[in-house]
Amino acid sequence: MRRGRRRPDPPPTGLLNWHDSSHWSAQQRPCRYCGTPTNLRDSHRKPAHKTCAEAAIAEQIRDQAAAYENERLT
Ligand SMILES: [Zn+2]
Repeated sequence: MRRGRRRPDPPPTGLLNWHDSSHWSAQQRPCRYCGTPTNLRDSHRKPAHKTCAEAAIAEQIRDQAAAYENERLT
């Protein structure tokens, strides 16, 4: 990898902190990613497993890094 063009790194652990009660609902709803019922909610209050959301974020970071590499102005 060349100097000065580092890709953005994901968070060190790649893990979200969902201990806050805003990420918990008493009602189970299908996860927006895998469809399995979950009590957890993501930051938009959509039903989602923490692991599913983390995987989606990691993918977004990779996509954005790739777009930046491929589509940036030179
Ligand atoms: Zn899920």
